[in-house]
Amino acid sequence: MDSTNEYLDENLRKAKSVLAHADCVIVGAGAGLSAAAGLLYLDFNTFDTWFKGYAKRYGLAYIYEAAFYHFPTPEEYFAYWARHIGTIRYNHPPGEVYRTLYNFLKDRQHFIITTNVDGQFEKAGFDPDKLFTPQGDYAFFQCSKPCTNELFHNKEIITALLSDLETSPFAVKSEHIPRCPYCKSLLEPNIRKAYNFVEEPCVKMKRSYMEFLEVCSRKKTALLELGVGYNTPTTIRFPFEQFVIQNRNASLIRVNMNDGQTTLPLADNYTLSLNGEGMVS
Ligand SMILES: [Zn+2]
Repeated sequence: MDSTNEYLDENLRKAKSVLAHADCVIVGAGAGLSAAAGLLYLDFNTFDTWFKGYAKRYGLAYIYEAAFYHFPTPEEYFAYWARHIGTIRYNHPPGEVYRTLYNFLKDRQHFIITTNVDGQFEKAGFDPDKLFTPQGDYAFFQCSKPCTNELFHNKEIITALLSDLETSPFAVKSEHIPRCPYCKSLLEPNIRKAYNFVEEPCVKMKRSYMEFLEVCSRKKTALLELGVGYNTPTTIRFPFEQFVIQNRNASLIRVNMNDGQTTLPLADNYTLSLNGEGMVS
């Protein structure tokens, strides 16, 4: 066994111990966790399989890029997003890593904060009332203007749009383009990409999350951070570090393939960085 494996084994042992003795667990999950569940947003082969012809027609190479691409017409925009949401949010099964996490946490006091918008936690069985998704959820459309804070569940809309693509793979029918029932602007996925993100529905979830943090501040707490990089570090990564600095009964377990380091001078006994593979169960 080389020293890297020994380091990992030792940290896994410590992480298991921290989790076993914790009164409550706060999970912070980023894109790395969904990558472990097969949702590879930066992978050409995945993109080319799920979005046939898009590389050649639009010069796109991966999902994350396509999600920010300005398609030339609303018909093409909704053709792409119908495939994107249909495949990722509705067809892709819950990953084993999410199901393992659910089985570990279901009888423990816990709360989830995640930047992932793919619904994997919900599909794996987690209670939506213990789930804070500040970046949104693919399952909902919002008004693009927006004239209202109302969100629109999109499963039926996506199913109808996908049926258009059977005869015309890159464009939905003009008469099926989803529009706001109030101002007739285009609808769009409720995900935090720009200034017009409707975040009102997140506020209630945020309140529940903050209340849970308050409870945890008086208990032995494990913060389990899974696959969180530096895309939006102020959502999970930095607040988790701050929490363990301010609460001496808290421990941070950072599971990350590439970004296991901490940016603040934390004492060793508070952080257990697990670079490389290895899920605690
Ligand atoms: Zn509107």
